[in-house]
Amino acid sequence: MKWPAFGYARATTLGDVWRLQAEHGEGAKLLAGGQTLLATLAYRLSEPGILVDITRIEALRGIALSDGVLRIGALTRHAELGQDALVARHAPLLAEAVPLIAHPAIRNRGTIGGSLAYADPAAELPACVVALGATVVLASAGGERRVPAEAFFTGLLATALRPGELIAAVEVPVATPATRCAIVEVARRTGDYAMAGLAACLVLDGGRVGAARLAFFGVGDGPVLARLAMAALEGRALDAGAIAAAQAALAGDLDPPGDLHGPPEMKRHLARVLTARALARFRPASEMAA
Ligand SMILES: Cc1cc2nc3c(=O)[nH]c(=O)nc-3n(C[C@H](O)[C@H](O)[C@H](O)COP(=O)(O)OP(=O)(O)OC[C@H]3O[C@@H](n4cnc5c(N)ncnc54)[C@H](O)[C@@H]3O)c2cc1C
Repeated sequence: MKWPAFGYARATTLGDVWRLQAEHGEGAKLLAGGQTLLATLAYRLSEPGILVDITRIEALRGIALSDGVLRIGALTRHAELGQDALVARHAPLLAEAVPLIAHPAIRNRGTIGGSLAYADPAAELPACVVALGATVVLASAGGERRVPAEAFFTGLLATALRPGELIAAVEVPVATPATRCAIVEVARRTGDYAMAGLAACLVLDGGRVGAARLAFFGVGDGPVLARLAMAALEGRALDAGAIAAAQAALAGDLDPPGDLHGPPEMKRHLARVLTARALARFRPASEMAA
């Protein structure tokens, strides 16, 4: 289908954005990498009056480390996340997720801010930021506010963004030597959105699980934090019994809708399989028989 008619304006400062939003109200739509937005325009799922191109705004760029927090600008492209030395060292889960997202052409343009704002329930980065216990930094003409990632995603393609706000950055607490994270998924073909996936972060104290965060994707309206499974792991040695307990607890955590990939029971089965796969990565090879 053809795009609807729309205006275009390039903002080079946040001030430009606030001015254009004040002028055009809800008719103004932010354009970042365009990898989702342009498709929604073609399908007439969105008919904005004007696209406000934010890609030249310096304040939304950059990756910086300060006081134990990695601040990742909203315009950081997926490909940059996969190549950045600070991300590799302090938030390696994000780098590990990148090859699972679509294809190189999309990763070269798509941004972390666009991915979080669109909030596709099968997308990798929303689940990663929830697993990492990150904070989403929102900016508007009135200033900044910070929302924990797990409260940012509010439903199907829905977020805590209010009219007039944009995502400025994501703040990720840096990994400690005891932090172990992994992302695993099942997709029909390489580069497809996941049928089901899991971003998992554990803090291991010796062989014991000090803290656990398991964020599933593709099995709900958005990232699903599996709190019962997390509780089943915490305080226990990460052995076969603990993993089985976490898998069993998922029955109370997940209520997946059926979708084009299959029925709810198939999603529940995949979630249990992915839990075992992710947690097995954190166990020393010598204990794998236990
Ligand atoms: C064929 C294809 C396959 C894909 N496969 C995957 C996949 O496997 N996994 C995956 O995670 N993603 C996938 N994607 C989506 C891709 O990752 C997108 O790049 C991403 O979801 C949107 O980022 P963007 O920068 O392109 O945003 P845009 O398309 O420019 O914008 C998306 C939405 O977010 C809003 N927005 C953008 N930036 C901000 C901001 N800073 N603050 C507030 N609102 C903002 C826009 O107004 C728009 O509503 C796929 C896309 C395509 C086309």
